[in-house]
Amino acid sequence: MSITIYSLGAAEEVTGSKHVIEVDGRSVLIDCGAFQGRRAEADKKNRKFEVQADKLDAVVLTHAHYDHSGLLPMLGINGYTGNIYATPATRDLANLIMMDSARIQARDAEYLGKQAAKKGETFTWKPLFNESDVIKTVNQIVTVSYHRPTYITPNILLEFFDAGHILGSSMAVLTINDKEGREVKVAYTGDLGRKHKAIIRDPDLLPPVDYMILESTYGDRLHETAEDALAKLAEITKK
Ligand SMILES: [Zn+2]
Repeated sequence: MSITIYSLGAAEEVTGSKHVIEVDGRSVLIDCGAFQGRRAEADKKNRKFEVQADKLDAVVLTHAHYDHSGLLPMLGINGYTGNIYATPATRDLANLIMMDSARIQARDAEYLGKQAAKKGETFTWKPLFNESDVIKTVNQIVTVSYHRPTYITPNILLEFFDAGHILGSSMAVLTINDKEGREVKVAYTGDLGRKHKAIIRDPDLLPPVDYMILESTYGDRLHETAEDALAKLAEITKK
């Protein structure tokens, strides 16, 4: 079995998470996040959408944050008609985030167009997607709850585990089988949460896997404890 994994974002950088897993002629995209940062630079990177959307067999969304879900509407625009698998809460939150983005882009286009007109400049910037693109995207989402193994292609079984990051956030474990009956398990953690948070469950323990893809934004830092953060908050509110 040959498995190819490559990243089109969030590799040697943060934001823009897009990871492709190819196996036996099937192609799965995990997350389709937008790049964030300075407006012009982020816009340029988001416009250069490199996912071969019409070649995908399935899409998995680990959580709703904009840097993981923000460019999902670009899939449909570029010819993807298949399913997008996400937990129910991720579907609901991603809907709000994508809608927000469509509205902000529409407002930006209007405002920047007026500014350009005042200066007598030509203005060609267009939103990447609009509200009706978002509705189409949300209709492609198939919800899968935690611990409900589900085939997303004939040879790839998806199971979501709680990532403890935000409401609905998940780690995706893919069990990949080839025609000879060999099996490989690949885990993609997405963004991982910390333990002992007030309203979010602790991250699940994953089953043993063969390969693990981890995001490491805070890999070189030690987080303060929840108690430390609460003490700091109390200090600030007393001032
Ligand atoms: Zn996140």
